[in-house]
Amino acid sequence: TQADVRLAEDLARRAASSLDNGRLYMEARDAIRARDTFLSVASHELNTPLTSLTLNVQALRRDLDSRAPEALSPKVVAVQRQLSRLSSLVRELLDVSRITAGRLRLEREELDLAALAREMVPRFSEDLARAGCELRLDAPGPARGHWDRMRLEQVLQNLLSNAIKYGRGRPIEVRVGADADKAWLVVRDEGMGIAPEGQARLFQRFERLASERHYGGLGLGLWIVKQIVDALDGRILVESAPGRGSTFTVELPRQRPG
Ligand code: ADP
Repeated sequence: TQADVRLAEDLARRAASSLDNGRLYMEARDAIRARDTFLSVASHELNTPLTSLTLNVQALRRDLDSRAPEALSPKVVAVQRQLSRLSSLVRELLDVSRITAGRLRLEREELDLAALAREMVPRFSEDLARAGCELRLDAPGPARGHWDRMRLEQVLQNLLSNAIKYGRGRPIEVRVGADADKAWLVVRDEGMGIAPEGQARLFQRFERLASERHYGGLGLGLWIVKQIVDALDGRILVESAPGRGSTFTVELPRQRPG
């Protein structure tokens, strides 16, 4: 009958389109795999010469400092700074490919988040001075828990360097605290801030907000931070208003769940 023909045609169309969907799905899956493999190979290939370059420049600097302390060191210092910037970009790429491959392994140990912050903040004195920024650290501590030292350093490092980068030279505040269940880390700047549409996309991979293109960066830092915080069963919140600044709050449970 007419109805059967229509039904058969409809079924045939649906079968064809689901074949198409299947093909599209497989193409997309292969493209994603190819991208991830490329990312992993490229970041490892970049990392190898970079590591040896960094070690050589360190040795060169020691060498020059011992011979002619003032003469050449500004250039070497500049080279070292650029190298360290390059290394942290490559480290971000390596981290992304590790995390994507499900290889973010945590090495938990007992830590005091307040002590960690007090230890880390002085490492930013050069960047702060260059940006003309003052930093207030409020970390009376202790804020203890079982976390991964290197990963927490990375969280602080990313939030702090963003605060300096997007902070417009205005004061920055870092606060650490804890109650019975959780510890928190707050990084607040009074810089350019983030519009509400941007806030929703902030923690996505490769996400950079258009107006900040000229600041440089891969748009991976906050994605990595979020992955680390998730792995530690914590959460990250942002409060921000354009032109008024941003406050990033990381909350971490002090006890390992389960
Ligand atoms: P990037 O390497 O670009 O800094 P991130 O993942 O760290 O990458 O940040 C993603 C984007 O979020 C940035 O490009 C910037 O637009 C915005 N952003 C992050 N931190 C801040 C901040 N403290 N103030 C304003 N914008 C920020």
